[in-house]
Amino acid sequence: MEQEKTILLASPRGFCAGVQRAINLVENALQQYGTPIYVRHEIVHNKHVIENLKQKGAVFVENIEDIPPHSVVIFSAHGVGKDVESEAQERGLTIIDATCPLVEKVHRQIQQYAIQNMEIIVIGKASHPEIIGTLGQIPQYKKIHVVQNKDDIEKISITPDTAVGFVTQTTLSVDDTAELITLLKEKFPQIKGLQTKDICYATTNRQKAVKQASNGCDIFLVIGSKNSSNSKQLKEVALKSGAKEAFLIDDASEIDWQKIDFCKTIGISAGASAPEHLVTELIKNFQSRYHKINIRNIIIAEEKVNFKF
Ligand code: SF4
Repeated sequence: MEQEKTILLASPRGFCAGVQRAINLVENALQQYGTPIYVRHEIVHNKHVIENLKQKGAVFVENIEDIPPHSVVIFSAHGVGKDVESEAQERGLTIIDATCPLVEKVHRQIQQYAIQNMEIIVIGKASHPEIIGTLGQIPQYKKIHVVQNKDDIEKISITPDTAVGFVTQTTLSVDDTAELITLLKEKFPQIKGLQTKDICYATTNRQKAVKQASNGCDIFLVIGSKNSSNSKQLKEVALKSGAKEAFLIDDASEIDWQKIDFCKTIGISAGASAPEHLVTELIKNFQSRYHKINIRNIIIAEEKVNFKF
């Protein structure tokens, strides 16, 4: 048993501007309109955030048809397609849109490509709500290909000299996506897109910080829910960057302390939808269990992004 531990605390971590804005919108709506307030899909992918808002009177639903007519609905930070918007309007719902402005930017980009009649390649996971919402901006458009890996890219067949554009999901692995974009550029030299810039600042910074903090870690703990894309990426980045093991945990209760007993250096970060109080509680748990805890902050950037709501 190692009684002295060093914690490498990656920063930035936790809430990004888009998540903070989305949560504020729900809390404001609860104050302004009273309960219940309906939220289509989890406002952000975090178990603790959802539980907290449920207790305050938010009701989470997957389908608009489950919302009583003339209620208030909030669209989640991941965005929705045009079909969801129309359905909500037809039902007479008051709509509050918590789509992250950086996701909206991707929506505008894909619409532009469609106006120019281009073939469109979307890098991301087809079943993720963000990609469903992005594709839903141009529901009738046929010249669209969703790719997640090299094999998917190999399968795309586009007539030479056709105009092609790409966008990406905002929460992907920066490094993996850069590789896919390189492949796309080799296959379609005429392709247009923003390099990895669709991957948002928050995803990029959290991955960079984890990369720097992981080297030499016996274990890396990422606080975040299992359905959070950016949190899952942080765990993978930790493993690729030198951590011997990495785990995605909702909170300190999921830790295997017997494993930690034999670790000396522990990395900690939190996904963009995970509240900071979970990190504080995790560190308190370490302090109550072990004789000496040294905390080293690994800070790679200072974030000053704020979105109006
Ligand atoms: S992770 Fe990025 S795209 Fe998603 S809500 Fe946060 S800032 Fe917006």
